[in-house]
Amino acid sequence: MRIHALTTGTVRAKHAFVFPSRGPRRQLDLFLPGPWSDPMPIHCWAIEHAGRLLLIDTGETAAVRDIPFVRFDVTREQELPAALAAADLSLKDVSEVVLTHHHGDHVNGLVHVRAPVRINDAELRFAETAFPRVMRRVLHQPLPPGFAPEPFALDGGPFGAFPRSRALSDDGRIVAVDTRGHTPGHVSVICIDDSHRHVMLAGDATDTLEQLRARRADAIAPDPKAHVATLDTILAHCAQNPTVYLPSHDPESAARLAHSITVS
Ligand SMILES: [Zn+2]
Ligand SMILES: [Zn+2]
Repeated sequence: MRIHALTTGTVRAKHAFVFPSRGPRRQLDLFLPGPWSDPMPIHCWAIEHAGRLLLIDTGETAAVRDIPFVRFDVTREQELPAALAAADLSLKDVSEVVLTHHHGDHVNGLVHVRAPVRINDAELRFAETAFPRVMRRVLHQPLPPGFAPEPFALDGGPFGAFPRSRALSDDGRIVAVDTRGHTPGHVSVICIDDSHRHVMLAGDATDTLEQLRARRADAIAPDPKAHVATLDTILAHCAQNPTVYLPSHDPESAARLAHSITVS
């Protein structure tokens, strides 16, 4: 098995997004003036395993527009085709795409993809409810044209500390797990690598490892308590299994993957 960190440009977020206050200001602060983070990567992931090439998320495109609490820096030369080429991979070899959640910086690269696309059914249902629809309209963040991923259910029983999962490979070494919180149907993907480590492609379960350790819900989770419960499950999983924890926007993720650095 080979896992590649692909990078499709960078993003900066308001400090209030990365370190939200508690209570009613959690979301209000996102729309008020304030300091910004340094640029963070927009990663997606390619997994070569058993003769297949699986993509987890597809990254951002240059067409994206800034929103009040997130600023994007993506050129056409940084979109998915080039990100794959940088890893000596090609779009035509992609067998399948699995999405962690429906946010633009994870799905907009689908404009390049012809392979089948899958997403957790709970996430697809959430994306079609009123609040995300209105926010996409207000923030000028439409889903990519033709967005119609095939839903799957997390009906494969427990995996490690996670009560709900779904195998994504025949041999069970690539598994989607329920990491609801950032969005209600968010999943992460755990790969059991050739050294039996668990490489967790965490999506936006947290933005950083620091946020996981701090057990801090993010600024946009619809239910912060549910988000913290998921962070506790991830920490329990990391305590039971040597786990390389890789959020999509953590500046340290690529180095942790390259050096197989586990959460300790
Ligand atoms: Zn997100
Ligand atoms: Zn994201």
